[in-house]
Amino acid sequence: MSEHTQTPPQAVQESQPTQAAQPAQAAPGSQDSQPSQPIIRLSHVTKVFADPRALRKAQKNGTTLPRAVDDVSVEIRQGEIFGIIGYSGAGKSTLVRMINALERPTSGTVEVLGRDITNLSEGKLRPIRQKIGMVFQQFNLFESRTVAGNIAYPLVRDHWRQDYRDRRVKELLEFVGLTEHANKYPSQLSGGQKQRVGIARALATHPSILLADEATSALDPETTKDVLDLLRRINRQLGVTIVLITHQMDVIKRIADRVLVMSHGKAVEENGLFSLFAAPKSPVTSHFISTVLDGAPSRETVDDLHRHYDGRLVTVVLREPAPEAGITPSGQNISRLIAQHPVTTSLLNGGVNEVAGHALGAITYEITGAPGDVEDFVAALRGDGDIVDFGTAAAPVDYEKALRASIFSNVLDDPLATVGGGSAGSAQSLSAPSTNAQTSTAQASEGEQQ
Ligand code: ADP
Repeated sequence: MSEHTQTPPQAVQESQPTQAAQPAQAAPGSQDSQPSQPIIRLSHVTKVFADPRALRKAQKNGTTLPRAVDDVSVEIRQGEIFGIIGYSGAGKSTLVRMINALERPTSGTVEVLGRDITNLSEGKLRPIRQKIGMVFQQFNLFESRTVAGNIAYPLVRDHWRQDYRDRRVKELLEFVGLTEHANKYPSQLSGGQKQRVGIARALATHPSILLADEATSALDPETTKDVLDLLRRINRQLGVTIVLITHQMDVIKRIADRVLVMSHGKAVEENGLFSLFAAPKSPVTSHFISTVLDGAPSRETVDDLHRHYDGRLVTVVLREPAPEAGITPSGQNISRLIAQHPVTTSLLNGGVNEVAGHALGAITYEITGAPGDVEDFVAALRGDGDIVDFGTAAAPVDYEKALRASIFSNVLDDPLATVGGGSAGSAQSLSAPSTNAQTSTAQASEGEQQ
């Protein structure tokens, strides 16, 4: 039987309403969600980019070579959107490329879909790779093929029968909203449309896993939102596990269920989305969060506020509780406390965001009144959650001391704080989100931190 008349296994699968009819996976939407089966398991993976001779020599001499990925262990659960964030050069792409064996670990093991693929031959990898789609920052489309031709490419490669192929392409064009562009060439499309083609192509063979490597980094904010909505639909409706790597915290905040933060090849922090935002443990995480969330004001902002306002400056963290993740409430009774105390409050700085369905933010107030009343009020605020007390213009609390005594203490160790000669704690990243802060993150790389 010739390839053209064969009905390949994929086509059989295609003829069944498999993916679309799959039940929704175990609550991927709720961050810190219930454990489900790991679909990807990386155990102590390390990657050194060196030829075998250099590796042997280093081993013999007891020297260490730079590690693109350094002893990372992580489990990605079936049905979740797993975000990996880090500066450029942190090792994200290398880590993700180990999932489809485009890179092999120097040590450690990689299991995908229940199979140890660490040393699997290219031939044996083939059926596993068919279950893994990949989407790239620069789309990687064939310029000489139409939209339909690009989407059909993996099906042609896998020898799908023409009628199944046509039907699948039609279905995918509809799913990503490009039906009327089927016969256009990539050069005739916008960036967002090109990425939709890339996504449709990645979905062609009904993958269980989609790897998205900076998939929205070349797109404007509005298009980014559309593409993230599409990725979410793929996850929720088709049950596809998504591993999304990015240096943009806004992307993580919008769609990730759980997050791994990487720095210098290492996994520095892993948590559910809300826990990561509400209780970051590492300075790198704090920095990323500060690009999208109101936190403690910068030293400059506090100095500026002290210059313009005589009263007591206090930042109140506003945080809804998430008992399942051990996150306690903060600032939940602020209106009642203001009403109960004979003080005057003015909201000066900050705001509240929503993260994984929970409110989270920080607001800086000026508090004025009789000294004893102000003291009582600040004590009441402290009893209601997390605050940072910056004192008054006449008796300011040292900025670093104020932060050290608060949940923002690890932000002082922000590796970017010293970039450009600023002193620790003066980082603009502590301030409310701004275009500048986001740009600085977008451009930050591991090298710049050193
Ligand atoms: P990220 O995706 O976080 O930007 P990468 O995984 O691309 O980081 O890179 C991590 C480190 O590995 C960087 O120092 C990078 O220069 C290095 N690296 C990545 N790929 C290669 C390669 N093929 N050969 C040599 N070094 C590489």
